[in-house]
Amino acid sequence: MATVQLQNLQKSFLDAQSKKETLAVRDVNLDIRDGEFLVLVGPSGCGKTTLLRMLAGLETVSSGEIKIGGRVVNDVASRDRDIAMVFQNYALYPHMSVYENMAFGLKIRRVPGGLARFTQRAKRRAALKDIDNEVREAAAMLDITHLLDRKPRALSGGQRQRVALGRAVVRHPAVFLMDEPLSNLDAKLRVQTRAELIKLHRKLGVTTVYVTHDQIEAMTMGQRIAVMKDGVLQQCDTPLELYRAPVNQFVAGFLGTPSMNFLRARVEETGNTVEVHAGPFRFSLSPAYAEALRSYCGRDVTFGIRPEALHERGSPHARDIANPVTASLHVEVIEPTGANTILFLQGQPEMLIASVEAQTSAREGEPLEVAFDPNAAHFFDQETEEAIR
Ligand code: ATP
Repeated sequence: MATVQLQNLQKSFLDAQSKKETLAVRDVNLDIRDGEFLVLVGPSGCGKTTLLRMLAGLETVSSGEIKIGGRVVNDVASRDRDIAMVFQNYALYPHMSVYENMAFGLKIRRVPGGLARFTQRAKRRAALKDIDNEVREAAAMLDITHLLDRKPRALSGGQRQRVALGRAVVRHPAVFLMDEPLSNLDAKLRVQTRAELIKLHRKLGVTTVYVTHDQIEAMTMGQRIAVMKDGVLQQCDTPLELYRAPVNQFVAGFLGTPSMNFLRARVEETGNTVEVHAGPFRFSLSPAYAEALRSYCGRDVTFGIRPEALHERGSPHARDIANPVTASLHVEVIEPTGANTILFLQGQPEMLIASVEAQTSAREGEPLEVAFDPNAAHFFDQETEEAIR
């Protein structure tokens, strides 16, 4: 196991034709702890794959430093970095069985060919025996023992994925690097394999950097999540902390489904209180919020509220709120999902989404009284989009 440290890491690509430079990764600083499962997440093109490829030694570093286990590896070849990679295309050798696919890398490293003398043959046999044990142990752990003799073409997507994982596991690397390894699986298998990967990480405790654009995968798998946008690391924290206290509007909107609602809001000072007018809502701020927003009085900010923080007035959740903010909103569309119901409400001018209990009295085309806890509100600067705290 090992720590992974990124210091002022930068990567630029030069387009050969247009001579234009793309800064794919910009000045990223990140300390990944020994044994940690860190998820790198962000929209397509934000630079997460480039960052992972630099860690893997598949891409050169433009500037900055990468340390694995305290050692600077900028100029260390990929094979000498003590890492194992799992990508979305599993890249299994089609002519080899599952067993051979898993054992191949170990054989290359440990069993030199052409050993003829008896002592060397004995050494070779011992090494092969060790490899056999390790392959079978990993296969048992991943529940693919029954597939060891099959060729990749005779496996399902999920089974191939396990073999690719098995091939990485047998190497006992200091760090696993995974790039969207579940993206070829169907929805059900993704959920199942996600849980298996988490179990595997708990068991092996190997430092893992996992790239995905799927925020649900990030929230459910990461011990910490590093959110990227346009090559810039926005925030790195535990899933719950990112959800509770996003540093900016991008992180707030990226994590959570459905996404956080945003409304333009006016901040005003009335006597000693600071008030917010956000679409259909008008409310006074608690002292802590008032303190943070006082300098915005007379100006507009962006108000954010998560769909699951908008309740139907009179519902058990709403009854638990000490000083609820309420408004009557027109229900445009109702989407039952089974476990809960998604409501599209006219928030004037913006549409608001609420995620309420499955049993709701909401009716399409009719008004609904909604309520939220003012302490669940988020505010962002309109220019910088940074959270106001
Ligand atoms: P995705 O989820 O779509 O894979 P990503 O977040 O992994 O996206 P990257 O693949 O790292 O994003 O790409 C980051 C940026 O760098 C993009 O603008 C991409 O076009 C650019 N880029 C990546 N590789 C190269 C390359 N070899 N040459 C030029 N530009 C590149």
